[in-house]
Amino acid sequence: MTSNFSNLSLAPQLARAVAEMGYETMTPIQEQAIPVVLQGRDVMGAAQTGTGKTAAFALPLLQRMMKHENASTSPARHPVRALVLLPTRELAVQVAEQVKLYAKYTHLNSAVVFGGMDMKGQTAELKKGVEVLVATPGRLLDHIEAKNAVLNQVEYVVLDEADRMLDIGFLPDLQRILSYLPKQRITLLFSATFSPEIKRLASSYLQDPVTIEVARSNATASTVEQHFYSVDADDKRRALHQVLKTRGMKQAFVFVNSKLGCARLARSLEKEGLKTTALHGDKSQDERLKALEAFKSGEVDLLVCTDVAARGLDIKDVPAVFNFDVPFNAEDYVHRIGRTGRAGASGLAVSFVASSDQRLVADIEKLVKTKIELEPFAFDEAPGEHQRINDGRRMYRQAEDAAPRERQERREPREFRERREAPPHRQAAAPRDPFFDQPYESSVAPDAQPAWEAAAKANPQRSSVSANIKPKKKVAALFKLGE
Ligand code: AMP
Repeated sequence: MTSNFSNLSLAPQLARAVAEMGYETMTPIQEQAIPVVLQGRDVMGAAQTGTGKTAAFALPLLQRMMKHENASTSPARHPVRALVLLPTRELAVQVAEQVKLYAKYTHLNSAVVFGGMDMKGQTAELKKGVEVLVATPGRLLDHIEAKNAVLNQVEYVVLDEADRMLDIGFLPDLQRILSYLPKQRITLLFSATFSPEIKRLASSYLQDPVTIEVARSNATASTVEQHFYSVDADDKRRALHQVLKTRGMKQAFVFVNSKLGCARLARSLEKEGLKTTALHGDKSQDERLKALEAFKSGEVDLLVCTDVAARGLDIKDVPAVFNFDVPFNAEDYVHRIGRTGRAGASGLAVSFVASSDQRLVADIEKLVKTKIELEPFAFDEAPGEHQRINDGRRMYRQAEDAAPRERQERREPREFRERREAPPHRQAAAPRDPFFDQPYESSVAPDAQPAWEAAAKANPQRSSVSANIKPKKKVAALFKLGE
């Protein structure tokens, strides 16, 4: 099998860009998808961000478009030929950045359009003529309606992170967009899950697709050291400080469940001397991009974020991920810890579990099909320090109160929704064991009774605590999932 880019016979302009990026060997998704896309077949791919998926579709599409390449400055000579749709602004920006790098030595233009920003700059870009247009669905429809984007010469469509687009409620927008495109085209659909909805979407819009599934790298799973510490809600910040200090962590993601909690925690940590920035859906687009850049450049050490703001972001080598709040959706746990231990680097994932979070831990346990043991957290700081950090106690209460409101906001109309948070995955999809090694595929009936509920019925005194969760001795002990 061809596993080196040098064996692909890419156009010299593309080969040069790939070499400049330092890629030599193809990732599994690239190895499987590139030849199929080069042949002009439709693809249904199960692969997640971080697997090299962008190059897997962008390189063969650019290669196929090279026959149209021209140096003319006339916009008419640069019609949109490839359309890449993504669910969020961050993902769209990330994919567009990569496409630009791959196309750097060609005369194929690319642009990105997404909501939450003035349309003027995007319109000016579109008017210059672009062969590859990366977009979020809502804003693309705005540009189509304003006649800034003409899609009648589109030959290739990529529906990336399709499951998330459906989760966000983009199906009607997608259907409208696809209705503007020529019937004769190549369609590539990528999704973390092959749920019935995704299969329906594929059967409506793909022709005889080649199905490609790749595992997440084994290295990711085995190199992430995971801990679940039992900590009072009021002590979580103190515990975070201690882990950072004792482990000598340089950078970390800190996940919280609500936008309000995110902003407040970031402010408190900043006051406590940690270089911190917040990433959540109420931040302006500019602020979000700046926050990301600051983290990527090492200007800030802690990125405090909500799930939807962070999912899919390609930030490599984050040494640690903290679940300051245990996620409401077990699947988000898997996404969160996927930020660390990437590309063979070792990583640390620490979850702080207050007593009210134990039911959520039981959900994670059920999803990853691995027993989770709560470890008591052994504090080593002086009580005075404890008191100081606990001054933020009200913050946690308010963050918890804010959570239902955040869910309420998710029912807003599209134009507002795209500016805010996307909803979490509604149905937890259960990866196989070891849980990182397979693309997500649900094996749990949506209405199946969670294990913790069954346990609660069998033993009413244990209420909502998983039968598998047993508080252990008062020593912080290491353990790894999936060993
Ligand atoms: P993606 O899954 O497309 O978001 O890619 C994840 C990261 O892997 C990006 O930073 C890419 O630049 C990088 N990458 C993609 N393909 C390769 C490759 N063959 N070798 C090394 N790095 C790659």
